[in-house]
Amino acid sequence: MEGDRPSMNRRNFLRALAGGAAAASLPAWALAKATGERPNFVVIFTDDQGYQDLGCFGSPKIKTPNLDRMAAEGMKFTDFYVAASVCSPSRAALLTGCYPSRTGVTRVLFPRDKTGLKTETKTIAEVLKTRGYATACIGKWHLGHKPPHLPTFRGFDSYFGIPYSNDMRPTPLMRNTETVEEPANQATLTQRYTEEAVAFLKANKDKPFFLYLPHTMPHVPLAASERFKGKSAGGLYGDVIEEIDWSAGEILKAIKELGIDSKTLVIYTSDNGPWLSKKAHGGCSLPLRNGKFSTYEGGMRMPCIMRWPGKIPTGTLCSEMALTMDFLPTLAKLAGADLPAGYELNGKDISALMTRPGAKTPHEAFFYYRGTTLEAIRSGKWKAILYAKGSDGQPGRPHELYDLKADISEKTNVAAENADVVKRLAALAAAGVKANGGKFGRGVRKKKTPKKTPQIRKEKR
Ligand code: MG
Repeated sequence: MEGDRPSMNRRNFLRALAGGAAAASLPAWALAKATGERPNFVVIFTDDQGYQDLGCFGSPKIKTPNLDRMAAEGMKFTDFYVAASVCSPSRAALLTGCYPSRTGVTRVLFPRDKTGLKTETKTIAEVLKTRGYATACIGKWHLGHKPPHLPTFRGFDSYFGIPYSNDMRPTPLMRNTETVEEPANQATLTQRYTEEAVAFLKANKDKPFFLYLPHTMPHVPLAASERFKGKSAGGLYGDVIEEIDWSAGEILKAIKELGIDSKTLVIYTSDNGPWLSKKAHGGCSLPLRNGKFSTYEGGMRMPCIMRWPGKIPTGTLCSEMALTMDFLPTLAKLAGADLPAGYELNGKDISALMTRPGAKTPHEAFFYYRGTTLEAIRSGKWKAILYAKGSDGQPGRPHELYDLKADISEKTNVAAENADVVKRLAALAAAGVKANGGKFGRGVRKKKTPKKTPQIRKEKR
């Protein structure tokens, strides 16, 4: 328990450590510090991959044998969330453990932007550096592409990748702070990221390390290498995912061959739901509703797998709520690192969920932000979509309420029959806005300004 921390002096600590039973009850941070145990962490983070776009999450056409095996050897999370349904804020939340409204990144960043992740909010890499971790970011950053926002200014020893989305120009490929190719040859990106990742693992096998691998794919424009192009029954999108699956397989193979399997936690998930309007080039979020840009489940509930032999029980399923924001406090705890000082994280330690099937989520509620607007909230099995009053003072639309355990597709609005639940969730949401910023409820009506007809404009000229 984190609360034990200040009261445990060195003598008590060593006494506790001397007895096996007492040591077993030590808080994980203390045990990690005492034993010097610093597990390795690999986070593989894909871009715009849908909830169904893995074999083990039900894809009928895309074959992902490596990730399916990873799930069979580890734990599959069915109720796992990112904190935004678009790229930049989702990444900000993963790396800082805070809702995007607190990180300075609440919308997608573009090449013209000069801003980025607030330097006051610490990243996982910065936290793990305090425990001597080797750190690398390989892939799409998208949290500011100028100093002081690039990865090497934010706790990563090295960076290789494209600094924003692959549909933005001029699409440079960067090594640390230098452009090494422009535009990047996208067809070979997944392969080159994988080679870089395996080289990093080999070079750091004797140190504790944190590898953050945010793939550029399957964000459009899709591109796969010659080896994978035209091979999948799922079309080009399937080719791209199958190449990512190969990549994950290479990483898992390297970890095993280097003899560091039992001290390496590997996590796989995606940054937001599929870009459905891209049709065959977008993914699939079934059985969830909607996709990217949406606060319905398809936008923010992600496929997620975690594997750590000897620590995470094999072939297990977790259907408790867990978040990318939980990574920072969880990895910090496992590494014995102090949390950032001066502010509270929104993420919580989920090591119990990972290691003890049947453990309960530490979250009373999850807030679905779209930009700076809190549009929905989940608590337990209930999810409410919240509507604000109109700017004209008239009531907004009635809230929607879904029972996610009985109705994963958010098809049946049961708000009318559960007014008390709606009231409780709306109160929790209002408190969430107060704590985390932003504004409450979707559908705020703007005052209508009469459209000028072309004829009027002509007269004015
Ligand atoms: Mg994305």
